[in-house]
Amino acid sequence: MTARVLVVDDLEPNVKLLEAKLRAEYFDVLGAFSGKEAIERARKDQPDIILLDVMMPGMDGFEACRIIKAAPETAHIPIVMVTALDQQADRVAGLKAGADDFLTKPVEDVALFARVRSLTRLKMMTDELRMRYATGKSMGVVAELMDPPAADKARIFLIDDQEDQAERIRALLCEQHDVSVELETDVALTRAKGGDFDLFIVNMSIEKTDPLRLCSTIRSFEETRLTPILAVVRQGDTRKLVRALDIGVNDYLSRPVDRNELAARVATQIRRKRYVDQLRSSFEASLEMAVTDQLTGLYNRRYLASHLSGMFDRAFWTGRPLSLMILDIDHFKAINDTHGHDIGDKVIQDIADRVRNSIRGVDLACRYGGEEFLVAMPDTDKEFAGVVAERLRREIAAQSVTLNAGRDNIDVTVSIGLSSTEDGPKDDTAQKLIKRADEALYVAKNGGRNRVIRSAAA
Ligand code: GH3
Ligand code: MG
Ligand code: MG
Repeated sequence: MTARVLVVDDLEPNVKLLEAKLRAEYFDVLGAFSGKEAIERARKDQPDIILLDVMMPGMDGFEACRIIKAAPETAHIPIVMVTALDQQADRVAGLKAGADDFLTKPVEDVALFARVRSLTRLKMMTDELRMRYATGKSMGVVAELMDPPAADKARIFLIDDQEDQAERIRALLCEQHDVSVELETDVALTRAKGGDFDLFIVNMSIEKTDPLRLCSTIRSFEETRLTPILAVVRQGDTRKLVRALDIGVNDYLSRPVDRNELAARVATQIRRKRYVDQLRSSFEASLEMAVTDQLTGLYNRRYLASHLSGMFDRAFWTGRPLSLMILDIDHFKAINDTHGHDIGDKVIQDIADRVRNSIRGVDLACRYGGEEFLVAMPDTDKEFAGVVAERLRREIAAQSVTLNAGRDNIDVTVSIGLSSTEDGPKDDTAQKLIKRADEALYVAKNGGRNRVIRSAAA
């Protein structure tokens, strides 16, 4: 994995030093020498991560960090603050400004690479989602995101076999969040899996089990694959920290745990998780919208086009028949003319519901035209398809569409054309299957409507 790193420091030798280290690990490195330049380059060059010096003349690192994190086009870029002194107050100020992590000068190699790797990995995942979201938005099929997610009232699961320490962390968080503690590491995984948590906090000094294995197992479960993990490590235990970050732990705290740093890191993880959740569900909703007809909730033609050929191929390979019906409402123009377009829409919806209710889950129903529906039925021979179609036709003719709480009743009939792969020529295709059903429908219309016609064998 190669990533583009922006290194910011007012002293050129410092930039050169980090640049040399990162280049040796095949990172692509850019430099900037002031807060202003950092903001500029972040926007123009869109780096994957920024290493930002705190002490700079003019605009300092905190200020630059705040500005980068506040601009929509750069807010998603992770920032690691590089401080000369490991001052607790600096760390909290940095976290408040939106920083994702810290490194202390002189920068240790393992710590540097571990953080750069874990933060860029996370960013790439979010980038993919942001891209899909942008595509959906430009297609006009996805809604705007909601307000920036809140960072409180999260469900937090704390795994620690040392009771006093667990209690201390719980006490610090319980005012803002819903915190569950598990001291028994062997039941922790089961609870983690089923608890729908927003964040895990794991003590890396657990003795009853291997905490690294615990974290990697949490990462491997489908239910918790994307849930952030915050590790609590002993000060100076860089080796364990590096392995934890490699496994996919998102962030960490050193013991003794500082109350402000804990609050800030928890808030960052929660906010990020909720942002990603929003992107994901908005994307799923947009997918749904892109393949669904808005009026009826049935699939649209776009989906039919991509899906039917797969159904057709399967029928061909398995030798099991695929049958298809096209259903068209009779004299629908007259319904529109008599009752108005809105009522017409309601009739279309009602017939769509009846179609939906009369087919199996494996059948594909789509709105094929204004008042036309197509149903593809895998594993169905023409005899049985005929029975399904006839039952549907009869039921629609027998039961008028009721509107306005029963005050209006509209008699509706439909004509149905049927085709099947059983009747196809040697070089049959999905398109030809549709065409045969269409021709049968035409015969049904000409023969007086309100009937089912099967296509003749080719
Ligand atoms: P036939 O029995 O031959 O099928 O006659 P028909 O009147 O149903 O067929 P035709 O194709 O002549 O007219 C269909 C009408 O459906 C014309 C169009 O204005 C109307 N229509 C198409 N889409 C919609 C829609 O979404 N809502 C409403 N209300 N009407 C629609
Ligand atoms: Mg019609
Ligand atoms: Mg029509």
